[in-house]
Amino acid sequence: MMERVYIGLGSNLETPRQQLQEALGALARLPHSQLAGRSSLYASDPLGPADQPRYVNAVAALDTELEPWQLLDALQRIEQEQGRVRKAERWGPRTLDLDILLFGNRVISDERLTVPHYHMHARPFVLYPLAELDPELELPDGRHLRELLAACPFTGLERLPE
Ligand code: ATP
Ligand code: MG
Ligand code: MG
Repeated sequence: MMERVYIGLGSNLETPRQQLQEALGALARLPHSQLAGRSSLYASDPLGPADQPRYVNAVAALDTELEPWQLLDALQRIEQEQGRVRKAERWGPRTLDLDILLFGNRVISDERLTVPHYHMHARPFVLYPLAELDPELELPDGRHLRELLAACPFTGLERLPE
């Protein structure tokens, strides 16, 4: 069964805009999947350690027949291929972060995967790009994207020209 997935992309090292373009290309090549759209690019203030460059973020819409864990494997492989180095520091700088925000209407909670993404409701760099793709979006728990946006100021965020 094809399901609509939303993926958050972020980068703040090694020409972030290019990292995102490259990652979108890789998403478009995933098996049993079709890239259905992508938001504008946004610059955002980093979470966690402030002594790191600002991020470039976007959200992609993917229609896929992959299972969530297969998709996570694929996303982690793309992160690796684009030179992500995992460090002990939480939310440290990285060439590429690919997070599953929503996977159809599924709710998943295991040692590898939490879906919906546990912190998406509080992240302007997730919610505003997501709204470009589907302003009417509803979360599995019934909350509307519109409500989440109303509670999440457009702070530290800047929509980048193409
Ligand atoms: P945050 O999750 O707060 O955005 P992060 O993206 O920097 O932080 P990572 O280092 O990329 O965190 O991922 C840590 C682990 O999170 C991964 O090994 C993965 O198994 C797990 N994880 C849990 N839920 C998700 C999800 N929805 N999308 C991607 N990874 C997830
Ligand atoms: Mg992340
Ligand atoms: Mg991540």
